Amino acid sequence: LTRRAASFLGVIGWPLEHTLSPAIQNVALRRLGLDWVYLAFPVPPDSLGAAITGLRALGALGANVTMPFKESVVGFLDELSGDARSIGVVNTIQRVGDAFIGHNTDVDGFAEFVSGDAGVDVTGSDCLVLGAGGAARAVVKALEGLGASEVAVAARNPDKATSVTAVLPHAKLVDWPRSSADLKDFRLVVNATPLGLAGEDALPDVTFSPGQVIVDLIYDPPTTPILERARAGGALGWSGLGMLVRQAAASLRIWTGQDPPLEAMSAAALHALGRR
Ligand code: NAP
Repeated sequence: LTRRAASFLGVIGWPLEHTLSPAIQNVALRRLGLDWVYLAFPVPPDSLGAAITGLRALGALGANVTMPFKESVVGFLDELSGDARSIGVVNTIQRVGDAFIGHNTDVDGFAEFVSGDAGVDVTGSDCLVLGAGGAARAVVKALEGLGASEVAVAARNPDKATSVTAVLPHAKLVDWPRSSADLKDFRLVVNATPLGLAGEDALPDVTFSPGQVIVDLIYDPPTTPILERARAGGALGWSGLGMLVRQAAASLRIWTGQDPPLEAMSAAALHALGRR
């Protein structure tokens, strides 16, 4: 029994109506001259195991994994790469022979965005991450790799916060900042919560100063109250779109072994976002 070479990739998550990944990845695959297709697979939360079995049986080359499966998918994979293993979060699956390997490209995606696109050197600086979910863990891991001096984590749920320090012992738990004094020592502040998706302000009582950099992982809407106020205070404010493109590029590199066409991917993301 032989099987024709597999030629598809996709993203699994729930819900998935708003994913930009097919737009970004299909442009990139065409640019690389690959006759592959990248599809969106909405998977109901109780069907994750069946979905992974299906991807294996159908010969998928790999997949992205998004909410709510980034942690639960670990139990369905054969092996984990270094970053995925150390934070227990997977956003990319790579087929190697019959094995499914889990990777986390949010770590490299965030690091490449901060040091490359934003041009920020956090070496020796104190950084603050808001949130304690999968994205927060990836950001903490990336900041450690970039040589940040201290990475503080603030989360509304102390149990969730300790789950971050359990896997990333260098992170330090702090209270949610309530005043500008709480924030003044942080060079970089990252919002890794959904606060801002519906116009909420993640840090309503603080002001920002020149020299600080705020990254909101949210990319739709393209700007959020925390970014607006950061810019008004003279700080630099970046949305999560750059990280989204960088993590997509890192996944593509894993699947294809080729250099990703970053500019085309970025343009595809902006175009898809602008059409909403
Ligand atoms: P997650 O695993 O669900 O974690 C979300 C975190 O935010 C949790 O710690 C949660 O706390 C906290 N949170 C939720 N609502 C909150 C509120 N009202 N006040 C304070 N904290 C709140 O999600 P995730 O995967 O880490 O993603 C977090 C955000 O990053 C999402 O907006 C996602 O779209 C974005 N993201 C962007 C990229 C990118 O490439 N730009 C990549 C990954 C994620 P509880 O545990 O207490 O609920």
